Amino acid sequence: MVGEFDLIKQYFKPLAGDEGLSLLDDAACVSPEAGKDLIISKDVLVSGVHFFRDDDPCDIAKKSLAVNLSDLAAKGAVPRYYVLGLSLPQTISSDWLSSFANGLKDMQDACGISLIGGDTTKSPTDTITISVTVFGAAKRGRMIKRSGAKVGDDIYVTGHIGLAAFGLLVRQGKVSSDDRSLLERYLRPQVRYELGPKLIGVASASADISDGLLADIGHICAASGVGAKISLPDIPISESVKAISKSYPKYSSLLWSGGDDYEIIFTANRTMRQAISNLSNDFNTLITRVGHITSEKSVLLIQENGDVIDTPEKGYMHF
Ligand code: ADP
Ligand code: MG
Repeated sequence: MVGEFDLIKQYFKPLAGDEGLSLLDDAACVSPEAGKDLIISKDVLVSGVHFFRDDDPCDIAKKSLAVNLSDLAAKGAVPRYYVLGLSLPQTISSDWLSSFANGLKDMQDACGISLIGGDTTKSPTDTITISVTVFGAAKRGRMIKRSGAKVGDDIYVTGHIGLAAFGLLVRQGKVSSDDRSLLERYLRPQVRYELGPKLIGVASASADISDGLLADIGHICAASGVGAKISLPDIPISESVKAISKSYPKYSSLLWSGGDDYEIIFTANRTMRQAISNLSNDFNTLITRVGHITSEKSVLLIQENGDVIDTPEKGYMHF
């Protein structure tokens, strides 16, 4: 591996925005935007936990940005910049680095962000650790919080749920499926960075689905002091996910407990139904009403016949 400074110069300097001062200074310099709040989010990704050590470095890079951009999208923020912390094993190759940098570049170009700094250290083991902090902008005082859900609000999700969780099962060889979109979604999550900012003024509360649908609506409910009823038959799932959960019933709970979808779950007043339908058309994105907010402080999953499903598996927790 090349030395630390050559590495930064060769692979990361080409990704730097003006505010990053060519990655030659001690810090970046960003002028705050008038009338905007700075929205900040960080995620750490570790090989063996969030991705496989031998995954394509281009995908690892995209995912590292995607999981962060998804937090900003859920807050209604437009992404602007990021800083990148890396802890890399000595054995990492220049091919790995160049593919990793290409992945970052693709994501940057797609959503209009730039790299403004970071830190690079040697990992004492074979583990790769990637820490990304993203900075976005939202109209002052308008960030969509977890805490804004009101009793009677509708609950919506974007996209299809469960693709990534079943994609991980495919990646692990636990199930087989002809549908490449499963693995695709696990490896390359799609981020709602264009739709997210349009939810300001529409959504009352919002989060991204990283821990699982029930866990993430649970986070909104806890922050808002309310509960939720989610209708299982209304959760949008693809034909292949439907087929797999039929063939492998032991995994069917992943529909509500599987993480990594990076879709948005949000609540909105009933008066917003038309606006949400318009957004769905404008962005050519599935937005599905899956339940409503209740005053009882629990999250219930309701079957077609009205019975409550007992759901011990709520979502992914690290500890
Ligand atoms: P310090 O000694 O203060 O930690 P460094 O020598 O690590 O500074 O970093 C030098 C410059 O390179 C800084 O501008 C820093 O932001 C940038 N940098 C270091 N690592 C990365 C990285 N992984 N991605 C982007 N920029 C980086
Ligand atoms: Mg440093």
